[in-house]
Amino acid sequence: MFPSTNSPKTFKVMTKLSTLLLAILACFFTFTTFSQTPATDRLPVRGFCIGAPKSDRIDEFVKFINDELAPRKVNTLIIRIDYNYQYESHPELRDSLALSKADVKKMVDVCRKNQIRIIPQVNLLGHQSWASKPTNLLRVYPQFDETPNVKMPVKYIWPNADGLYCKSYCPLHPDVHTVVFALMDEICDAFETDAFHAGMDEVFYIGDDKCPRCSGKDKAELFAGELNLLRNHLALKNRQLWIWGDRLIDGKTTGMGMWEGSMNNTYRAIDLIYKDVMICDWHYERPDLSCVYFATKGLSVVTCPWKNSENAVKQTQDMFRFRASATPEMKDRFHGMMQTIWSGADRFLDEFYGRKTNPKDGVNTQTNCFKAIFSEIAAQSK
Ligand SMILES: [Zn+2]
Repeated sequence: MFPSTNSPKTFKVMTKLSTLLLAILACFFTFTTFSQTPATDRLPVRGFCIGAPKSDRIDEFVKFINDELAPRKVNTLIIRIDYNYQYESHPELRDSLALSKADVKKMVDVCRKNQIRIIPQVNLLGHQSWASKPTNLLRVYPQFDETPNVKMPVKYIWPNADGLYCKSYCPLHPDVHTVVFALMDEICDAFETDAFHAGMDEVFYIGDDKCPRCSGKDKAELFAGELNLLRNHLALKNRQLWIWGDRLIDGKTTGMGMWEGSMNNTYRAIDLIYKDVMICDWHYERPDLSCVYFATKGLSVVTCPWKNSENAVKQTQDMFRFRASATPEMKDRFHGMMQTIWSGADRFLDEFYGRKTNPKDGVNTQTNCFKAIFSEIAAQSK
């Protein structure tokens, strides 16, 4: 017989039972919801960044995306394309061997099939030369050179008297953005993407004393001005700007130095830029915690390792820890991890499939680091 609900004692017991039942149900739903949360919700960006392959390796690369990236739940693929594309807006800037629209479409299709966001990168502002040669933009349009007085050496060595690492274009040249915007628009259309990576790393030449437009100007303002201009152009078509984060870190105070940080005061640009830019925070020698700095400044950040698996695993664990422990305001700015490959797709594929290995690398290879990151992400997502 069921007790009468009119009795105060019975009512109390029933209330307690209801409370207990609700608590059990709450625990059950919390547990099942949490345990069923797909990995996609637990680390929003699981990225891979690599130079575009040559045309004759496209099919192999597409297979790699399908067979190796997709099963590891990689969901973001940065393709460093630069001038390895048959631009129609500026055919004079194409590499001699450049990918066709059909080549790019193959990568776009396999990424779409596997729900991978594909993002092209063209180095802007800095990295306008490599070793002793200007890259295509300054080769064709030398008037855009921020430091035309610095001649390209016959044989490049570092360090050198000019402090030449890579050339930059002048962000205040009145004609440079007509070209740059056309390239950005065309490559984003070809990749059918909603984001663009502009590089903007290791900009050593900026606000040069001899530049008639930039001399005497604040380098942080010049850097931020260029970044915001690119960001605004992309925003017109609802596209997001991604960049490498090193110019926004104070290299001296942090001890991170001139590569991973800025020694020419561009770091103060961090307070002058739009907050919807994605920062790719790269550290290859140490598992530095600068992603916290970016998140504290209101910026979204992805941590980027290269070859050191041990550091990369620590960085991955840090990323999960920050997402779990940061304030509700900050936690979603810790977007995830991105493995960076700096050998180009062709050489990487040779390494990955064991066709060519460099014994000097030991265990610290890009392949091992890539596998370590995604094993750790899988382990942390369980
Ligand atoms: Zn200038």
